[in-house]
Amino acid sequence: MPNYDTHVLSGVLSYPVAVALAGLLADHGAPLELSTMALIIGYAFYVLGSDLPDMDHPNALIHRGTKPIVSVAAGGAVYTNIAGSIDLGQPWLNTAVEWVVAALAGVMAWFAFTWLMPRHRGIVHSLLFAAIYGGLAFLMVEYGLGMRTGEGLFVGLSAFLGYTLHLLLDGSVKLV
Ligand SMILES: [Zn+2]
Repeated sequence: MPNYDTHVLSGVLSYPVAVALAGLLADHGAPLELSTMALIIGYAFYVLGSDLPDMDHPNALIHRGTKPIVSVAAGGAVYTNIAGSIDLGQPWLNTAVEWVVAALAGVMAWFAFTWLMPRHRGIVHSLLFAAIYGGLAFLMVEYGLGMRTGEGLFVGLSAFLGYTLHLLLDGSVKLV
C-alpha cells in the first residue's frame, strides 16, 4: 500500500496528464474551460483527491487531520444554535457554559467521525466516491466561487481524476 508521500507526490507530479486529457476533450468539443484560475484550483482538488480516499483509515494523516476541522464545525454549529439560551445571571458565565456544551459536541464529533467512517478500502475507495468528490468540486467552483460552468466542469473532472489516481495506485478500482 503506497504511503501518504507516494500518494500526494504522485498527484503533485501527474497533474499534467489530467490537463492533457481535459485539453484533448475540450479540443473535441467537451464543455471544459482551462482558464488559469481553473487550472490552479483544479490542481488543488487533484492533489487533495490523490490522498482523500485514505480518510477511511483511522491512522491515516488525512483522517487525523480532518478530525479537528469536523470537531470545530460541530462545536460551532452547536454554539450557533444554543447561543443566548442559557441564563445563569452573568453574561460571561452564560457564554462560557454555552461553550461547555459546544465543546462537548466537538468531542463527540471527534469520536463519531472515526466510528461512523466506513471500513478501510470500502465504499470510500470507489469510483462512486470519486464521482461524488468531482461533483462537489464542480458545485463549489460553479456556485461557491461563482466561476463559469466550463471552469467548474474542468475542476470537477480534475478532482475526479485525482481521486481515481489514488485508487489506481492502491491497485483497486471498483465502482462502489
Ligand atoms: Zn488508499
